[in-house]
This record gives sequence, C-alpha cells and structure tokens, in this order.
Amino acid sequence: MQLFPCPFCGPRDEREFHFAGEIGKTRPDTTGEVSAEDWARYLNTQRNEKGRVREVWMHLTCSELFVMERDSVTMEVLSSTPLREDVE
Ligand SMILES: [Zn+2]
Repeated sequence: MQLFPCPFCGPRDEREFHFAGEIGKTRPDTTGEVSAEDWARYLNTQRNEKGRVREVWMHLTCSELFVMERDSVTMEVLSSTPLREDVE
C-alpha cells in the first residue's frame, strides 16, 4: 500500500483515489463537429510518460480534484496541489 497526499485531507491510502487524467490534454472544441476518433483519442489515449509526470487525481473521500506530481518509475510522490491553485 502507498500513501497519497490529498492536499485537503493529508496522507491517505492509495485505494481512496481515482486517476482522472494527465495534465495538458486539450479537450476537443465542441462548438463544431467532433469525430468519434478525436473523442476516442482524447478520452483514451495517454502519453504514459516515464519519469516525472503531472496528473489529475480525485480523492474519493472528499471528492476534491488535485494535481499530483510523481515519478512514474519510482512511484515517489513529489507534490500535490489543489487543481484550482495549479498555475502551470
Ligand atoms: Zn481529500
């Protein structure tokens, strides 16, 4: 078991969290027609980078979204920031 740091609740069991997506993905512009392929690419394709990554996670207990920066190789958590405060 690994502890993930919720910026609102503190360190909690990883099973209390849900991965919500990678930072930096651009949602298709829905003011026009969006092809099924573009939606599929947006929803299902991940960069799955090796090393330092920034991701959106949800703590299911408090229902808050936050940005967690972690090393995908060592699984070390480097930081967690409320999504509304993330400025990058
Ligand atoms: Zn929380």
